[in-house]
Amino acid sequence: MAAKLRSVLALVTGAGSGIGQAVSLRLAREGALVAASDRDGAAAEETIRLLVGTGRDAGAGPGCHAAFQADVAQAGAVQALIEQIQACFSRPPSVVVSCAGITRDEFLLRMPEDYWDEVIAVNLKGTFLVTQAAARALVSSGSGGSIINISSIVGKVGNLGQTNYAASKAGVEGMTRNVARELGRHGIRCNSILPGFIITPMTKKVPQKVLDREVSSCNSHRVPGH
Ligand code: NAP
Repeated sequence: MAAKLRSVLALVTGAGSGIGQAVSLRLAREGALVAASDRDGAAAEETIRLLVGTGRDAGAGPGCHAAFQADVAQAGAVQALIEQIQACFSRPPSVVVSCAGITRDEFLLRMPEDYWDEVIAVNLKGTFLVTQAAARALVSSGSGGSIINISSIVGKVGNLGQTNYAASKAGVEGMTRNVARELGRHGIRCNSILPGFIITPMTKKVPQKVLDREVSSCNSHRVPGH
C-alpha cells in the first residue's frame, strides 16, 4: 500500500457524501490519517467505515481515522471541530479539504432571498470559517500545511439557475488566492479545485434535460480519440 502521505492528518469536510467521501478514501489509500467531518455525523461515520483496510483502523485514538459532526456555516461548530481534532490526534490537520457544499437552484428572476443566503452561508462563509480556523491552528503549531477548497467551474463560467452557487464558488476562488498570499510565509499553501460536472448525490437534483445538455457540451469539447 502506498504511504506517500504517511505523516499527514487530513480534515475533509462534506466527507459523508460524493466528492468528500471519494477524497477521504483516496487520502487514506495514500497513507494519510483522515478526520472525516459532515453535518450528518452518521454519514461521516459511514465514510470512516469505508476506510477500514486502508492501512489504519477506524475508531478512537491518535492512530485511527475518526468521524466528526459539524455544520461548517456555524463559527462555533467549526472552532469546536478543530479543537476536537487536536484533542483526538494531538495535532492540527496538516491537510484540509473543504468539500461541504450545497445547491439551491432557481432562475434569478424567481430566486428567493433565503436560497441566496443558504448557499453563501455554506459554500462561501463555511469555507472561510474552516480555512480560518485551520490556518490559525497551523500557524500556532508552526508546522505548515495545505488547504484545498473545492470551488466549481460554474464559478468561472456560470450556469443557468445557479446565480447563488456561481457567486459562492467565484468567492471561494478569490478568497483562496488571497489566503495563499497571506499564508505562504507560514509554510501553508492554499489552492482551489474547480471540478466540472461529477455525478454525486448533489447532482441527483439536476433535471435530466440539463444533464443531457452537460453531456453533449462535454462531447462537443472532446478531442477526437480521447
Ligand atoms: P454532495 O454529495 O451533496 O456532498 C456534499 C456533502 O457536504 C454532503 O454530505 C452534505 O451534507 C455536506 N454538507 C452540506 N452542507 C454542510 C454544512 N453546512 N456543514 C457540513 N457539511 C455540509 O455533493 P458533491 O457533489 O460531493 O460536492 C462536494 C463539493 O464539490 C461541493 O462543494 C460542490 O459544490 C463541489 N462541486 C461538485 C460538483 C459536482 O458536479 N458534483 C462540481 C463542482 C463542484 P447533506 O447531504 O446533509 O447536505
